[in-house]
Amino acid sequence: MSGESKTPVDVVVVGAGFAGLYGLHKFRSQGLSVRVFEAAPDVGGTWYYNRYPGARCDVESVDYCYSFSDELQQEWTWTEKYATQSEILAYLNWVADKLDLRRDIAFDTRVVSAVLDEQTLRWTVTTDAGDSVEARFVVMATGPLSAAITPDFAGLDTFGGEIYHTAHWPHEGVDFTGKRVAVIGTGSSGVQSIPIIAEQAQQLYVFQRTPNYSVPAGNRPLTADEVADIKANYAERRRVSWRSGGGSPHVAHPKLTMEATPEERQAAFEKRWDLGGVLFSKTFTDQMVSREANDEARKFYEEKIRSVIDDPDLAELLIPTDHPIGTKRICTDSNYFQTFNRTNVKLVSVRKTPIESIDESGINTSEAHYDIDALVLATGFDAMTGTLAKIDIVGRGGQKLVDDWADGPRTYLGLGTDGFPNLFLVSGPGAPAVLANMVLHAEAHVNWIADAIGYLDDHGCAGIEPAADAVENWVAECAQRAEATLFTKANSWYMGANVPGKPRQFMLFIGGFATYLDICNEVAAAGYKGFDLIKTP
Ligand code: FAD
Ligand code: NAP
Repeated sequence: MSGESKTPVDVVVVGAGFAGLYGLHKFRSQGLSVRVFEAAPDVGGTWYYNRYPGARCDVESVDYCYSFSDELQQEWTWTEKYATQSEILAYLNWVADKLDLRRDIAFDTRVVSAVLDEQTLRWTVTTDAGDSVEARFVVMATGPLSAAITPDFAGLDTFGGEIYHTAHWPHEGVDFTGKRVAVIGTGSSGVQSIPIIAEQAQQLYVFQRTPNYSVPAGNRPLTADEVADIKANYAERRRVSWRSGGGSPHVAHPKLTMEATPEERQAAFEKRWDLGGVLFSKTFTDQMVSREANDEARKFYEEKIRSVIDDPDLAELLIPTDHPIGTKRICTDSNYFQTFNRTNVKLVSVRKTPIESIDESGINTSEAHYDIDALVLATGFDAMTGTLAKIDIVGRGGQKLVDDWADGPRTYLGLGTDGFPNLFLVSGPGAPAVLANMVLHAEAHVNWIADAIGYLDDHGCAGIEPAADAVENWVAECAQRAEATLFTKANSWYMGANVPGKPRQFMLFIGGFATYLDICNEVAAAGYKGFDLIKTP
């Protein structure tokens, strides 16, 4: 799209990742005029930015892709169980071309504000180029994990070597051959990149603050027969996924953990371990609600990790002790723990010896100076709210969303909030979002929003706005459901705990993907119960 026309549109979509691209296609196909703004130079969102070595999905590729078009499902062929970043990005580019999406996307264009006109219920969306467009609806497809964090290390700006963040990796790649490298952070991004960086670097220092649970990904190439079989049965695979707790076709063990005999339990964990991937934390349905059940999974896990690390003291440093297994996003890896058996890799426990500063030549901990040539920050994101907070969103009475959420995000169904009519969130706080397969989750949200807009137009309504009590009740329900699980026991980014000063609140709906979709559908079927439908502005 060239230039910014001032012609009002029905829908402004912010973001051109999985969610925004589908939003554009869906809204366009129901006859709405749509403009998409994307800060990056191209489509892809997460998969445009996170190009660090080893970046892959942790939901199986054949599930982590659009389900809305069988033509897309049949034409695209995934090559590995867990696709690489480059393959996912190629897929999204292919979809964008096939559906002719680019002509309505303004790239390299960041939305800086969205301001409501209460009289007309129209939003004025303004970009960093100074252009504004008026829209009846705004859909924030800005991503739950798109505001990367660079910690405020003293002296970071004085470092004389190369600095990389996993979420802003150079497109040309980085060759660490012969270099002394430090990685700070051992979440999913660190865990995926560390084994590959270790193979290249002369010396790798891994700065670990909190050890994380990581299970083998079990990645492998997909055979032609497997792909043919999946394609022949895609409809059923998707049906099961839509009815599942997490948006992929997983079936947990039929018994509760302690109902199973020790042999059955061991066999079930072993089977899930061998299959690989994040679903280890769903081997039994009660693993995330019962401490006793969780402890069984944890004990099994610990033995597996001890068995692959040569130095027993090092193994203990790498095994988490501060949170139940699965209460932080479980990582998936390819030989992460084995990497610490290499002679060129050293684990530095930041808990034992905190990072005090960074200087021109490297990192100073309370105990030593580490000379390095390159520093990799795998330090995560201001998740769920960080990206929205960067946009000046102004609703009724001049109320800013950032102020409204100062004590923690408040939404109804994760789809919107009171005081901000006609503003929709995709995969925002209050939805299952990152607890589910995010591609199906994005489709579900976009479909719900598209139906709601259709309903408003059919019924001569100008606006839709969550009622204040519906928001309060939903926030309370999300909190209550979270409290009934072990998830609130971890200092996770789900809880906002990774950002200094951020309010502690479990930001997601934990009740399961299918349950959540049922609630959203019931709300719509009841004439958008809990929302005020506004006839005339
Ligand atoms: P994003 O892909 O984050 O896209 C949001 C877009 O909005 C970005 O392109 C951004 O530039 C743009 N944007 C934001 N603010 C503005 C603004 N103000 N103006 C203009 N544009 C703006 N989820 C899974 O389900 N399975 C996985 O295996 C998985 N793996 C992941 C691996 C990594 C490394 C990361 C970081 C996340 C992973 N996730 C995974 C979560 C992932 O974020 C989602 O699956 C999905 O890609 C999100 O899509 P989205 O379109 O909602 O958001
Ligand atoms: P993350 O899970 O938040 O991990 C950040 C790491 O940096 C943590 O180990 C954290 O330690 C550490 N850290 C942060 N600030 C620090 C500081 N000041 N000093 C020392 N250490 C510091 O971030 P992420 O690894 O980028 O992953 C975020 C999410 O993205 C994942 O949970 C997942 O949902 C998604 N993701 C998925 C995949 C995949 O496999 N498909 C890959 C990457 C990302 P503490 O734990 O002590 O805070």
